[in-house]
Amino acid sequence: MNIHEYQAKELLKAYDVPVPVGGVAYSDKQAAQVAEDIGGSKWVVKAQIHAGGRGKAGGVKLVHSIDEVKKTADAMIGSTLVTHQTGPEGALVHRVWVEQASHIKKEFYLGLVIDRVTQRITVVASSEGGVDIEDVAKAAPEKIIKEVVDPAIGLRDFQCRKIATGIGLKGRLMPQAVKLMKSLYRCMRDKDALQIEINPLAIVSIGEEEKLLILDAKFNFDDNALYRQRVITDMRDLAEEDPKEVEASGHGLNYIALDGNIGCIVNGAGLAMASLDAITLHGGRPANFLDVGGGASPEKVTNACRIVLQDSNVKAILVNIFAGINRCDWIALGLIQACKHLQIKVPLVVRLAGTNVEEGRKILAESGLAFITAENLDTAAAKAVAIVKETVL
Ligand code: ADP
Ligand code: MG
Repeated sequence: MNIHEYQAKELLKAYDVPVPVGGVAYSDKQAAQVAEDIGGSKWVVKAQIHAGGRGKAGGVKLVHSIDEVKKTADAMIGSTLVTHQTGPEGALVHRVWVEQASHIKKEFYLGLVIDRVTQRITVVASSEGGVDIEDVAKAAPEKIIKEVVDPAIGLRDFQCRKIATGIGLKGRLMPQAVKLMKSLYRCMRDKDALQIEINPLAIVSIGEEEKLLILDAKFNFDDNALYRQRVITDMRDLAEEDPKEVEASGHGLNYIALDGNIGCIVNGAGLAMASLDAITLHGGRPANFLDVGGGASPEKVTNACRIVLQDSNVKAILVNIFAGINRCDWIALGLIQACKHLQIKVPLVVRLAGTNVEEGRKILAESGLAFITAENLDTAAAKAVAIVKETVL
């Protein structure tokens, strides 16, 4: 699960991490009020969408008057922002964050991520901030510094100093950097985050003084831990998520939308991945990933069909079940219910194997409905791809 920048900054503030003074606004008037409350003569108006790359796309604007704050907020709210991370359809801006503009001396990248190879939180930093870290990784990998954290002892001061030195921080900024990194680490652990990305972390000047400030923050949280993270789940913005994915999670289904035209209903994430591969291997394109899990009731299977069919690109559905805990007869009953109640107009290719397979096949055969059956995944995928090719041509 992701959150908006303004939520990330509110969260970080509670961890005593330095963030600019700011406020969220849902209208131009409110934005002007926030700017007045902040005071000063320079503000930054920032579109709040889950995707990054807003700066380059016109979603981050430096303004010099309250009137300009108002106009900028008015233009942003209700507009669709297209960044390199949103895809061509863009994201609708519902709110903006107005914050104090900083005088930036230098920008850095700072990230905390779970490295799946070492299975440990790794701090990643670079002196090349404000730009895409992926580009830095390609063009100048030596400019990326990594420090792996031992979970038994946590992030140590010497590690923070090593990172800070590596990106060129020194003097008075050093203790600030150490404190900031340790707070981020604590926040990551407390909130079950998978990733925190600060880009940019900036050295800003306030009069003669220099200090570290977080100008942008992105979080990604572990969905499996949300049950114990009430503060985080309250930040969920369903408008930013695919409505099919939201509905699916309500039914205990694991659904991820893709951009092809063959709907997939499968049990188990591994088999689902294999099914997507098989479709692709035969020259087709999957429309989604959907895992019905174990012990799927007929109702759950019907709901799975309904969610898959909400995608108008779907031209055929591939059902691939290798039943262990599942029961093929329940799957078959669910598919029949779906055909009866949902008026399915696209062909259904069904491959059943495992528990109660004979019963399942019998139920399908005796239903009088036009299921296309297959003995194994390979033929099922080939059939689904062939059908879609015929209908699309
Ligand atoms: P995104 O990553 O989505 O493009 P950022 O919040 O990182 O959005 O903003 C893009 C750039 O805008 C930053 O790299 C920074 O140079 C500038 N910026 C952002 N916030 C401020 C601020 N409060 N004061 C001055 N400049 C800012
Ligand atoms: Mg950024």
